Amino acid sequence: MSVALSNTVKGLSSSLTLQINASVADLRAQGVPVISLGAGEPDFDTPPHIRRAAVQAMENGCTRYTSVSGILPLRQAISKHIKKQKNLHYSPQEILVGAGVKQVLFEALQALINPGDEVLLPLPCWVSYPEMIRIAGGVPVPVSATADSGFLPAIDQLAAAVTPRTKALILNTPANPSGAVWPPSLVKAVMSLAQTHHLFVISDEIYEDLVFGGASHLSPAAVSQDAFERTIVLSGLSKAYAMTGWRVGYAAGPQSVIAAMTALQSHTSGSINTIAQYAALEALTASQSCVQEMRDTFARRRKLLLHLLKEADLHPGVIPQGAFYLLLDIRPFLGKGMDQEVICDDLCFAQLLLQKQHVAVVPGTAFGADGFVRLSYAASEQDLTCAVQRIGDFVRSLK
Ligand code: PMP
Ligand code: GLU
Repeated sequence: MSVALSNTVKGLSSSLTLQINASVADLRAQGVPVISLGAGEPDFDTPPHIRRAAVQAMENGCTRYTSVSGILPLRQAISKHIKKQKNLHYSPQEILVGAGVKQVLFEALQALINPGDEVLLPLPCWVSYPEMIRIAGGVPVPVSATADSGFLPAIDQLAAAVTPRTKALILNTPANPSGAVWPPSLVKAVMSLAQTHHLFVISDEIYEDLVFGGASHLSPAAVSQDAFERTIVLSGLSKAYAMTGWRVGYAAGPQSVIAAMTALQSHTSGSINTIAQYAALEALTASQSCVQEMRDTFARRRKLLLHLLKEADLHPGVIPQGAFYLLLDIRPFLGKGMDQEVICDDLCFAQLLLQKQHVAVVPGTAFGADGFVRLSYAASEQDLTCAVQRIGDFVRSLK
């Protein structure tokens, strides 16, 4: 029987980043020695004290539903954490805990967007933004930036994309996939544009703890009182605490928006997993030395990767300053090929690299970065070394 699917899901593509993770797992299960630089998640285990807190929560019988927005001690801890990180004050009523930034982002768009509303989307961007905007009935309006501009949009470009239908803008710094960190001057200019045109800003700050090489992270909400009132801040524990599988993220913003998102969540998942909430509480309130250690490791890997690429005469589009990604420029290899296969775009490049050298990377097209592939350095130094060697061998064998 052919089932008539809804207009919402017709044409919806599933997350390419997650598909690549699944293909790598399948290949490894078949015994293929794949090195993955595709993963968008830390390769560390969740630190032991956080895991122990989860076990303790189960032992203590914390196994029932909690309030939809999350247990109060966790929202208080998030409030303190944001105060410390960004010097912003949100009361626990202005905070919602959801199943990762993914869920709270989805809810924020559902809460704000009416059919036909336009959302400015600086490209390159994470794969889920355009799809989530479409699911909410909105229209993603891409504002593309090139490697020459550091993969950062110019303020004039953003201004030119504003129409009477523009409702919001999604800002992601440090950025996935480019690793760009928006300079404070650009964040301030964007917030002034938002004020002029009455735009709401959805700020995805999931990589806020992973900033390197002297750059600093500025939350758009911290720019001014006006900016604070027109921004919803999204962040979570997946990246900084190596807790991707626990599914803990949060939103902080105007109470009316948080209340609407909470009502939405009350009819979908309800609260997130209770045990994960206690683990998150421990993560945020215990010593932060594990975050520092993981950040230091990422910093060393970033340096190593940049060095290895230089030695292999391979070039990143920009030198990344945050997150754990780098966009590698593969435009010099377009039109070349091997064994009758021609590399026509970054998708072909990624496919052939996986097939011939067993290195997984994500095609830039998935993010609006055509001609580039994303390398994740959430991988061991040994894997990074071996992967760059294989990529070097691969490109040298192209004719
Ligand atoms: N935003 C960005 C930019 C991401 O790269 C990710 C990675 N999954 C997420 C949000 C979602 O993270 P999570 O749902 O695990 O909090
Ligand atoms: N955000 C990560 C990535 O970009 C994880 C995968 C996903 O959720 O899309 O690879």
